[in-house]
This record gives sequence, structure tokens and C-alpha cells, in this order.
Amino acid sequence: MSAAGTGGTDTYEMVVGLEVHVQLRTRTKLFCNCSTQFGEPPNRNTCPVCLALPGSLPVLNEAAVELATKAALALGADVAEESIFARKNYFYPDLPKGYQISQFDKPLATEGQLIIGERADGSAIRICITRLHMEEDAGKSIHDRFNGLSAIDLNRAGVPLVEIVSDPDLRSSAEAGSYLRLLKQLLEYVDVSDLNMEEGSLRVDANISIRKRGETKLGTKTEVKNMNSFSGVERALEAEFARQVGILESGGVVEQQTLLWDADRGTVRPARSKEGSHDYRYFPDPDLPPLRLTHEWIGRLRDRLPELPDAKRRRFTDEHRLSPYDIDVLTASPRIAEYFEAVAHAHGDSKTVANWIMGEVLAVLKQTGLPIDRFPVRPRDLATLLDMVRDGAVSNTAAKRIFGIMVQTGELPAQIAEREGLAQVGDEGQLAAWVDEVLAAQSSEWARYRAGEKKLLGVFVGAVMKKSGGRADPKKVNQLLAMRASG
Ligand SMILES: [Zn+2]
Repeated sequence: MSAAGTGGTDTYEMVVGLEVHVQLRTRTKLFCNCSTQFGEPPNRNTCPVCLALPGSLPVLNEAAVELATKAALALGADVAEESIFARKNYFYPDLPKGYQISQFDKPLATEGQLIIGERADGSAIRICITRLHMEEDAGKSIHDRFNGLSAIDLNRAGVPLVEIVSDPDLRSSAEAGSYLRLLKQLLEYVDVSDLNMEEGSLRVDANISIRKRGETKLGTKTEVKNMNSFSGVERALEAEFARQVGILESGGVVEQQTLLWDADRGTVRPARSKEGSHDYRYFPDPDLPPLRLTHEWIGRLRDRLPELPDAKRRRFTDEHRLSPYDIDVLTASPRIAEYFEAVAHAHGDSKTVANWIMGEVLAVLKQTGLPIDRFPVRPRDLATLLDMVRDGAVSNTAAKRIFGIMVQTGELPAQIAEREGLAQVGDEGQLAAWVDEVLAAQSSEWARYRAGEKKLLGVFVGAVMKKSGGRADPKKVNQLLAMRASG
């Protein structure tokens, strides 16, 4: 950090808690049978319940409870055997009932945690999850499409969400970024949401305050909203931190308020003033009985959780003996990890498989935007290709060309190798003929090599490979050259 002007940011530390809203992957809404399909014509996915017509009653969606509970268990949270749906009262045009059904004093789950890294002294950076509760989403106001008139789309009203609230345990924008990326990864592992940030399936609000380093008392916090990427969250926190430091340094007082992040300008601006939670006049929703989950039901869900990222990383370290970096890349997504393991089990050499997936496979996924579960090369066909390289049937260079064709056509590697004339030549007679031709053409270099200029070996190997159109088996070419040199 430079000395000028940053005295303030060295003196102060950032204290951040995050509220993450995650849309659950259900077919229907939280309290009615309307579809949750994104991108339908406005107000297509509505019914008397989510339009709040008089006399309609909510019925809780069991699938949503199951997904929310899985998310809570993955975070190591205590799932309550009884939780209560409450009405959060406020007026806004996108909220037809005049209240949102949420959970307040008895949420679905409390006291989870996420470990996001290690401090310099080796202790874990543990972020506590205060609570995880279920709630319904609101609709969407549209202000910019109808010549100054506002419109309302209630397709999203009633879509199931979980809100995951962390303690103010984060101390930098980088920690906030790590927390969000690891949380997203964990939720992808338990498959409770499509986590699509562009479609609003994962939304983040940040509470941020500052205090002098070494102080334990919390400062006045502001809430920053409207960030639609993780890097946006990091930039917004930096901007708000600098703003608060500026206020305190000039003798002012931070005002508790809600701010909106403006990504284009890189600044925050005030939204409406922050209401305290008492203004929502929460009370238990009389239309919904308490949500009761049995100990056995929760236990069954816990037993059925898939292997989580930490456990997978540990197992990959033991079973595949890869570097920490390789393991991070391969376990970033559960589907990549699954693909890797399928190829590795079929082929046998984990390191070779890891290199191919981190190189060739991820490059194609990045280029095409395809998800791995729609990748055209099946794991066992990739394993066959790697077997062919190991057995000397094709060179590594030829294998890359074959792989490129497999991606296009989905053909088997042996079929492509034969049609394209890429099979490696290991035939002694043919190889000897190529070697002799090269040595005849480069007789003076050959004499220098035999006189001790050993670095020329690569020149001869390269020339033979070129003469063979890349098909000569380089191992055997090396052996033949060694024999010629000693003969
Ligand atoms: Zn509905």
C-alpha cells in the first residue's frame, strides 16, 4: 500500500456480514402450483394464491423444504424440528399481499459455518452462518419499457428462496469473495439451485461497517445492494469502505442506510433509508401451520448428502496424489470431478488424466460454453485415447488432433486414428529407413554428434518426426539413434 492517502485504510478494518438469497431448484412455487420457469411471458406463471386474491390459501411445497434443509445440512447448521412462517409486512407494488411470507424468530436452521481459508498462523478462517431461512420471492417492477409508465411482472412472486445470513466475520473484500465462491460451490455440490446470477438465482446484500484495528465494538453499518457479480461485491465493499473511512477521518458520523452499488461509476448511492426490522411487524402467518420436521427425516437427508467439497479434496489428495492446485481445479465443480474420476478409473494414470482435463477438456468447455454434462466426448472414449498414447499407438501430438475431431463428431479414437492416418509407426524397418535418410542428409551434424556434441540429438529426432508426418514413435527413434551412434 502506498503511503499517501491510505493512512486511513491502514488504521481501519472492514467488518462485513453477507446475506445471500438463493433461488431453490423447484418446479413450482413455494405456496402454489405455478411454474418457476424463468423467461416466460409476464404474469403467465400466476394464480389466485401468488396474485393474493381474496380467499386463496398457501400450501407449502415439500420439495422446497427438502432443498432448503439440504443446503442447511451442507453448511453444518442445526435444522430446527419446528420453524415458523411469518409475515413480513411492507408495501411495495411487486408484493401483491402487502407482506412477504418469510421466517423470523424461528428460522429453519441456525449456526452453520463455512471455512474459507487459513490465517498466516495456520488457524482456520471460520465464517459463522447465523441463520438460514425460507421465504418467497417478490415480483419484479419494470420501469424502463413503457414510456414512463411502470409495469409489474409477478412470475417471480412466490418463487422459493433461502436466505443465508452470515455473522459479521469477514474482514476484507477478498474474504467476502472467497466466502461467496465457496458458498456457491457448496450449493452446487448439493444441487439445490441453478445458481444463475444473471437470472437472479443468487443475489447478495452486504452489511459493512468499519472500526479502528484492535477495537472490538462494531461501528454503524450500512447495507449495500444491487451487486450482480462476486467481483461486483468485492468492488462495492472497497468503495463503501473508502467512503466510510473518508467520513470518519473528516470527523463525520456514518449514517445507517441502504446503498445501491453503481457498477458503471464504481460508487454507491443511497436508496431508501434503512428500516429497522421492527417496522416489518413480523407475526406468525395464521394461514400456515408451524413447519415440523422429524429427527428421522432430517437424519435421512443428512445421510443422503453427496460428498462435499472438503471431503472430495481430501479423498482426491489420498487417492489421486495430485498437487493442491490440480485438486482445486478438478473439484471446483462436482461434475468436472465426476468426469475426471470416470476417466481416471478407466485409464489408470490420474496425473495424465488431470493434465488432459485441465488442458484440452476445460479449453473446449470454455470455448463452447457447454456444461460438462453435455460434453461430446464420453469419459471412457477419452480414457481409450489416453490408453493409445500410453501404448504407443498414437503420439501425444496426434492424440490432440484426434481429440479435436472427437469433440466435433463424437467418433471413437481408433476409428479417427485410422481414417486420418495418425496411427504411430513403430515398425523397425520403416523407422530405420527414416533414420538413415536423415543421417545421410545431415552427415556433418551426425559426425559432430558422434564427436560429443550431444545436444544435436534433438535435431535428428525432430527431423525423423517431421519426415514421418509426426507418426514415428519418438521412443523407438531415440533407441535407433543410440544404436547408430554406438555402432
Ligand atoms: Zn401461483
